[in-house]
Amino acid sequence: MKKLLICVIAASFSFTNAIAEEKHAEKDAQHPHWSYEGKTDPSHWGELQSEFAACSIGKEQSPVDIRNVKKQELLPAIVFNYVANSAEVVNNGHTIQVNLQSGSTVKLASGEYKLVQFHFHAPSEEKIEGKNYPLVGHFVHRADDGKLAVVAVLFKEGKSNPALARIFDVMPAEVDAKAALGADFSPADLLPGNQSYYSFMGSLTTPPCSEGVQWQVLKTPVELSDAQLKIFKKLYRNNARPVQPLNGRVIREG
Ligand SMILES: [Zn+2]
Repeated sequence: MKKLLICVIAASFSFTNAIAEEKHAEKDAQHPHWSYEGKTDPSHWGELQSEFAACSIGKEQSPVDIRNVKKQELLPAIVFNYVANSAEVVNNGHTIQVNLQSGSTVKLASGEYKLVQFHFHAPSEEKIEGKNYPLVGHFVHRADDGKLAVVAVLFKEGKSNPALARIFDVMPAEVDAKAALGADFSPADLLPGNQSYYSFMGSLTTPPCSEGVQWQVLKTPVELSDAQLKIFKKLYRNNARPVQPLNGRVIREG
């Protein structure tokens, strides 16, 4: 009898384990695991699943080292129409991301786009003449036809950044946790005064590394303090994909 009871307990325990494992596998299928270190680091992204193939075989991948900029024919200035609205700060397991309500838009030579979210990488993924920055913000925009445009804002060490502080003050340490940002927060507060930029075609810098993304990297960095950088790096010490070959792409400026 005692033996039977042990068997029942053991069986139910392994059954519970099996369910837990199955749930875990389901979650992995929905959110396949990729990372910045170890066996699922950027050099392996393209092999992790077929949808990620562009990460290894794509010819217009991001980020890039910005060099040999084409100096003729300046592009028009970027028109930022960023407004204050309520937003949500999410720790998604790869970065800290701020999801925005609709309202903010940007106008580029290629058309008008709505700002959807922005997130951070440490150090900056993009380099300028071989030099990276301690942090970058990627402002991800989508046009009505689904095309994506990213504006990158570089951060250099200096004074504490009050707009960044509002995000860092509430960002959750726990993965998948969320926090609210007040409706008076405007993404415009993170932009530098001088908005001249480099421009080129590229991709998402995370799986599935989809191409056809219009990239703008603002030339003028904004500042963050050493303490602010340390706070971010406590959560994400290194979440930057290495630079990818240009393969003949032309970098223009505006
Ligand atoms: Zn990014």
